[in-house]
Amino acid sequence: MTNNNVHIAIVGGGFSGTLATIRLVKLLSESQNSAKIFLIEKTKKLAKGLAYDTQCELHLLNVVAQDMSAFPEDREHFINWLAGRLSAVAPSSFVSRKIYGDYLAELLQNTIQTKSTAVEVEIINDEAVSLSSDEKTLTLSSGRTISIDRLVLATGNFQPTAVVASEAVTTSAAYFNDPWSPEALTGLGSTENILLIGTGLTMVDLAVQLNAAGHQGVITAISRHGLLPNKHRVFNRLEGTAAADVLPHVFPSKVREVFSTIRAACEKANSAADSDWRIVVNQLRPHTQSIWKGLATADKKRFLRHARPLWEVLRHRMPPEVASIIESMREDYRLRIVAGRLLTAVVSGNSTEVTMRLRRSGRIQTATYRRIINCTGPNIDLRATSDRLIQSLLASGSILADELGLGLQLDDHGYALQQNNSFSGTIVAIGALRKGQLWETTAVPELRLQAAQLAKQIVESTCSSAVANKTAETFVSNA
Ligand SMILES: Cc1cc2nc3c(=O)[nH]c(=O)nc-3n(C[C@H](O)[C@H](O)[C@H](O)COP(=O)(O)OP(=O)(O)OC[C@H]3O[C@@H](n4cnc5c(N)ncnc54)[C@H](O)[C@@H]3O)c2cc1C
Repeated sequence: MTNNNVHIAIVGGGFSGTLATIRLVKLLSESQNSAKIFLIEKTKKLAKGLAYDTQCELHLLNVVAQDMSAFPEDREHFINWLAGRLSAVAPSSFVSRKIYGDYLAELLQNTIQTKSTAVEVEIINDEAVSLSSDEKTLTLSSGRTISIDRLVLATGNFQPTAVVASEAVTTSAAYFNDPWSPEALTGLGSTENILLIGTGLTMVDLAVQLNAAGHQGVITAISRHGLLPNKHRVFNRLEGTAAADVLPHVFPSKVREVFSTIRAACEKANSAADSDWRIVVNQLRPHTQSIWKGLATADKKRFLRHARPLWEVLRHRMPPEVASIIESMREDYRLRIVAGRLLTAVVSGNSTEVTMRLRRSGRIQTATYRRIINCTGPNIDLRATSDRLIQSLLASGSILADELGLGLQLDDHGYALQQNNSFSGTIVAIGALRKGQLWETTAVPELRLQAAQLAKQIVESTCSSAVANKTAETFVSNA
C-alpha cells in the first residue's frame, strides 16, 4: 500500500459532490491508497441538494426512472433499488424527487460503511469561504482550516438574481427571491392572489405545490415570452433507432444552421408513426456538448439572446402527471400564464401593486398580489452570486468568470483558468459551474459521468500507485 495521504475537499454535497465522493472512495479503496475526503455542505440537504430535498410527493423527476441511475455503467441501478421499495414501478415512469433523494442518501451512507480503512471521509456541515493564495488551505465559516491537495467545486447553481428593482418590494414580507425557501408558500390565505415571476419548471413546481395544498386564489405567472415547458411523452419504439434516421453525424458550426438541422430532423420525426420532435431533442443530448464547443462566441451569444427560452421549454419538460395538473389549473382560471414585462411594483400595506405590459397587445395591466416569488430559475452567473467562496476565489484571481456569465473558465478536465493565464492544479469544478464550457451539464445523465471522470483524473494525478491507474481505468471504462 502506498501512503499518499491525499486530502481532497469537496465543496457542495448535492448530487455532484455526493457522486464525486462516492466515486473517489470506491477508487481509492480499491487501489488501497490512503486519502482523506472532506465533503463540505452548508445546508442540511446532504446528498439531496436543492433538487431532491423536497417533501412534496408531486415534485416528480423530470427524467424517466430508467435514466436516473447514479452509475452510467450500471443503468439498472436505480430501477433495481426502486423495485425493492415500491411495487410496480415502470422503468419509463416519473417517480418523486423525494425518493430519489433517499436513494442518494443511502448510496452515500453505504459507500462510507463499506470503504477501506485507508480512506477517511469527514462530512462537515459548514460553509467553505476562502482558499489561501498557495491553494493549500481551505477556510470554513466556523474558522476551521483544512489542508488540501485538491478542491472540488460542486457548488451547484446560485440563487436567482433579483427581478424586481424596487428595494421597498424586495425587502418586504410579500417578496421571496428564493422560491425554495421553506417560508415562500407558508402563511398564505387559500384565496390570495400570487405572482410567480418565471414560467419554467420552478414555477411549475410551486403551482403544483400550491394546488396540492388546496390553494384557490389566482396564480399569475409571467415571463417575457410566456412559454410553458412542454410535456414529456413516452414512446413505444426504441428512440435511438428513430433518431438515427433523422440526426446527422456531424453538426454545422453556425447556430442558425444547427437550428435548421434540428428543425428538419424534428419535422421528419413528427411525420413518422409513434415519434415526434421529443425523440430528436432527447437524442441530441450526447451531441449537445460538442455542438456547443463548436460554436464561436458570437454564435453562443446569439443563441442565448434569441433561442434560449425556446430551447429551455423543449429540453426541460414536465412529466405527464404534472402537465395534467397545470392544464386543469389553467382551465379553472386558477393559473394564468402571461407573456409580458414587469413595469413597476409598489408596496401597498401587506400586498404589492404590480403593473405589467402584455407582450402581444402592449396593454398595461395593474393588479395587487399578496405574494411575489422569483421563479426565474437557477443562476450560474458568477458576477451576480453572493457565494462567499466563489467571490473570494474571483477576487484573488484563482478562478475567472466565463465571459457569457455561464460559470467558470476551465480546461477540458474542469480545472480553473487563473488570472496569470495558467490552469490551477488544485481547483476543479463539476456540475453547473461548467455550463459555459459544456452547456449540457444540468441533469443526472451528464453529472454522473462527470463525477466518474473527475474521480479517475484526481486519483491518477494524486496517487502514484500503478494500482490506482489500473483500477480507475476499469471503473469508468463503460461510463
Ligand atoms: C428543482 C429541481 C429539480 C430538478 N429535477 C431534476 C430531475 O428530475 N432529473 C435530473 O436529472 N436533474 C434534475 N435537476 C437538475 C439538478 O440540478 C441536478 O440533477 C443535480 O441535482 C445538481 O446537483 P449539484 O450537486 O450539481 O447542485 P446542487 O444540488 O445545487 O448542490 C450544490 C450544493 O452545494 C452547496 N454549497 C454551495 N456553496 C457552498 C459552500 N461555499 N460551502 C458549502 N456548501 C456549499 C449548496 O448548499 C448545495 O447543497 C433538477 C434541478 C432542480 C433545481
